[in-house]
Amino acid sequence: MPDHSTLAAAATHAVSLAAAVCREVQRALEQVKAITKDDKSPVTVADFASQAIVAKVLTDKLGKVILVGEEDSKWLREDGHAPHRAATLAALQTVWEEATEDDLLEAIDVGSGDTHHNGFWTLDPVDGTKGFLRNQQYAIALAYIERGRPVVGALACPNLARNFNADFNHPDRHGTIYTAIRGLGVGETPADDPGAKPVTIKRLDHEEGQPIAICESVESSHSKQDDTARITGYLAGHGHPAGEPARLDSQAKYAVTARGQADAYLRLPTRKDYVERIWDHAAGSLVAIEAGCSVTDIFGNELDFSHGRGLEKNKGVICAPPRVHGLVIGAVEALGIGNDA
Ligand code: AMP
Ligand code: MG
Repeated sequence: MPDHSTLAAAATHAVSLAAAVCREVQRALEQVKAITKDDKSPVTVADFASQAIVAKVLTDKLGKVILVGEEDSKWLREDGHAPHRAATLAALQTVWEEATEDDLLEAIDVGSGDTHHNGFWTLDPVDGTKGFLRNQQYAIALAYIERGRPVVGALACPNLARNFNADFNHPDRHGTIYTAIRGLGVGETPADDPGAKPVTIKRLDHEEGQPIAICESVESSHSKQDDTARITGYLAGHGHPAGEPARLDSQAKYAVTARGQADAYLRLPTRKDYVERIWDHAAGSLVAIEAGCSVTDIFGNELDFSHGRGLEKNKGVICAPPRVHGLVIGAVEALGIGNDA
């Protein structure tokens, strides 16, 4: 097996091409909707094309790979979905010129691997589909998991500016990619220039007395926003003021916390039976850890990627630099959040 740096280089290249495909679908949004006669189709098309190009790049660079992707080709192969197939192939051909329909479907199915291996890749081809549809924040999240832990993560955020003053809701022209290798740190490159020299991302711990900036999901069904408000109220009452949370879609929240723009990413359970998916956390959590954040579930347990496609042993996520992480875990416990989860 190639070393982690080789895997990281392949992963970065793969997500940068997937980001280019997603941008192309955004550019041709109206055309895609017209071909498919379906308003939601741009995200479907981007999802499939993104998974196909990631599978293609990994296979070209590394040989046969085990890839656990969020998508499979069954739906796309159905007779009624020929227009979606055509639109997906057109998007894919912007980065893989000679691809045929068979290439597309076979590449998507490279992502049908299972998790019963010492090492495997996991991919969310378009994380934050709602953000994609609004042309706000979304991510392509690819990670290599070895013996239950992510060891390489490549997170492309095509609409995330490097500049902290930019509005999250406004798509950046370049976007960013974060590439993390366990034990070796995390680097940032422009999404449209992945060969550029990476800038190392290392965040300082949060300083006593500074306000705590929190980020969370846009979707109240993905993270209990009322509980975030209870936590900020509790922290304020104990001398740790926190402002209104920033809301953005996708694992871009991990990146934003990793680089010090936010001091915590909270993902608080909304229902008892929801199990977080590995591809929603593998790449992002490693990016945050390697930048110096602590990442656990709401009870302070490390995220455990050794139970198949779900984080079966965990509930929610708290990602923050160590001082804030401790404060939030304390607040969660004091407020009894998750006691019914
Ligand atoms: P975000 O953009 O952070 O809201 O996360 C998007 C991800 O949330 C999607 O990829 C889904 O897999 C995941 N998701 C779907 N339902 C839930 C839920 N009930 N709780 C937490 N996450 C969910
Ligand atoms: Mg997702």
